[in-house]
Amino acid sequence: MKDCLFCKIIAGEIPSKKVYEDEDTYAFYDINPQAPVHVLVVSKKHTPDVAHNGEMNDHELAACLRTCAKVADQLGVAKDGFRIVNNCGDNACQSVKHLHFHVLGGEKLSERMA
Ligand code: AMP
Ligand code: ZN
Repeated sequence: MKDCLFCKIIAGEIPSKKVYEDEDTYAFYDINPQAPVHVLVVSKKHTPDVAHNGEMNDHELAACLRTCAKVADQLGVAKDGFRIVNNCGDNACQSVKHLHFHVLGGEKLSERMA
């Protein structure tokens, strides 16, 4: 989608530090990490968020979670545990309106989730 930051990253128009890629998803390091490991998993198909994803099928949606798990394994945080975060909409402070999941790990995370 024109003027979407993550679509531009997927297309290689804006640089990113790639961690993993398959036909449905792209994963790269967050530019402003909030944990020792902080990776963004984005769907290759543009859709705004989990509440508005009519253009995506179940396989494409599930692929995002599978990629989160693969990234956690690849970066060595799966054993000790990690967190997957999805911000949806303004109250959740979603800043990029392209479906994405944060994979956070590498240390004991806060017990608070909000
Ligand atoms: P959210 O606030 O859930 O929409 O998450 C958006 C995330 O994108 C934030 O954690 C930002 O740090 C991250 N971000 C913004 N621009 C870039 C970029 N160019 N490369 C990597 N991560 C980015
Ligand atoms: Zn997009």
